[in-house]
Amino acid sequence: SSVSRHFSSTARIMAPISTETDYLVIGGGSGGLASARMASGKFGVKAMIVEAGRLGGTCVNVGCVPKKVTFNAAAIAEALHDSKAYGFSVEETKPFDFTSFKNKRDAYVKRLNGIYEKNLTNDKVEYVHGWAKLLSRNEAEITQDDGTKTTVRAKKILVAVGGQPTLGPSDIPGNELGINSDGFFDIDKLPKKVALVGAGYIAVEFAGMFNALGSETHLFFRHETFLRTFDPIIQEGVTNEYERLGVKLHKNSSQSKIEKDPSTGKLTIHYKDSNGEGKLEDVDHLIWAIGRTPMTKNIGLEEAGVKLDEKGHIVADDYQNTSVDNIFALGDVCGKVELTPVAIAAGRRLAERLFGPEQFRTNRIDYSNIPSVVFAHPEVGSIGLTEPQAIEKYGKENLTIYKTNFTAMYYAMMDPEDKGPTKYKLICAGPEQKVVGLHIMGLGSGEMLQGFGVAIKMGATKKDFDSCIAIHPTSAEELVTLK
Ligand code: FAD
Ligand code: NDP
Repeated sequence: SSVSRHFSSTARIMAPISTETDYLVIGGGSGGLASARMASGKFGVKAMIVEAGRLGGTCVNVGCVPKKVTFNAAAIAEALHDSKAYGFSVEETKPFDFTSFKNKRDAYVKRLNGIYEKNLTNDKVEYVHGWAKLLSRNEAEITQDDGTKTTVRAKKILVAVGGQPTLGPSDIPGNELGINSDGFFDIDKLPKKVALVGAGYIAVEFAGMFNALGSETHLFFRHETFLRTFDPIIQEGVTNEYERLGVKLHKNSSQSKIEKDPSTGKLTIHYKDSNGEGKLEDVDHLIWAIGRTPMTKNIGLEEAGVKLDEKGHIVADDYQNTSVDNIFALGDVCGKVELTPVAIAAGRRLAERLFGPEQFRTNRIDYSNIPSVVFAHPEVGSIGLTEPQAIEKYGKENLTIYKTNFTAMYYAMMDPEDKGPTKYKLICAGPEQKVVGLHIMGLGSGEMLQGFGVAIKMGATKKDFDSCIAIHPTSAEELVTLK
């Protein structure tokens, strides 16, 4: 598993750890770290955090952080291409040095691991590197790197163990020849030809980056479009744009067999797509990006009586209570909204509720109107309801939908084939036209959405949007001048 992979290879003799604590946090990822630090650093509670892999969890090590750094590299490749249209003569005498880039990215992540450890020391959280397993509602067994096992008693226990990439489907022979999003971050040479299977955030982000960096990129997905949980303008908009950008899209596809040439190490993918049966040869990497699986196996949850759903996620309410008193869960392990800021906010609100002053007793996060961005090409931002969801909730007759589709001024200097699309949609409900959904696609959407998110969280109406004077010339101004 990704966790055992990160276990320290040199076993050291471990210092003894506490056997009693107020707050035992299992998992040192986004959610666990935030909660433990607030409990100890702000409220002075005795807290212990147990992490089996690398501090910072998925986001820091194999998620948001190294992904965004890679996205930035891809954006620079695009800017280099675009610069010619603005009159620059950028001679690329050497190819992009992916290996140096990767090593530098690894070093940055390693620095962050150190900063996270220091933050724990500053907040007086006891940090244990090891594997935790629940024994009861008040006890867990912790196995440190040297094999030492300790039973720790805790007044409250938080399970924030996250998830790991779902394995390639076992009914496809050769599925194990593919890698996953963890393996993406181990790639140290820019692949000539790469294939991705999936239709969510990860498949779309990775495919866009490879394509921009110059790899021949094949994206296999099961339906006519990808990002199907997003509003239709995003689904269709990004799918069409990827096709235009030269990503090889295999729509309505399935794979029947994966083979590896033992002499070259290259893969052959046997598949079916809208064009019939095919075979893709000379593939450097096949990446499964078909969702994530919670890390809830063999950690004593069933024995402690913690209820799991059919996919293995921990069932928790909006206050992060599980079915067992004293045991709480949050973040990816609950499978509700798998985003870092959601895990962090839930961790902090829970620490406040459990250990803070009286007025914090009902603190929790609000799971509605959570903004999110797909770092696709171009970026996509989304908050609130999609149009189909809004129709279901309010009825078509009670909605006013505003849409715009234009070419950002950035492209003014470019040839028609280098111009990318910008598409915005605002979904308003009722006579007061309250904004219940906002979906944007185009340059800068990632940075734009946060501010609009605040307005929508405050209950903004179309009139509020219109009363804010436009900032010119920007793309964002189109959202306050929609007709
Ligand atoms: P995690 O961060 O996964 O932390 C759980 C930790 O628990 C892990 O470190 C694990 O080693 C440890 N653990 C597990 N079992 C045990 C055990 N028994 N004992 C001890 N330790 C254990 N989100 C965004 O908001 N923006 C993005 O751009 C973004 N990009 C992403 C890109 C990729 C490729 C991936 C995979 C995810 C991305 N995410 C992004 C999602 C984000 O990383 C997760 O939502 C977030 O990390 C969840 O935090 P968590 O605390 O729930 O779990
Ligand atoms: P997602 O759940 O987003 O998407 C996985 C998709 O893959 C499914 O929706 C499905 O789409 C498709 N799929 C499932 N099984 C198969 C299969 N057997 N063959 C082909 N396709 C399949 O998962 P990801 O792995 O992309 O990402 C996990 C989560 O991490 C995200 O949901 C997100 O919350 C988070 N994340 C956030 C990012 C961000 O904030 N920018 C970036 C990356 C991850 P369909 O039904 O259409 O086939």
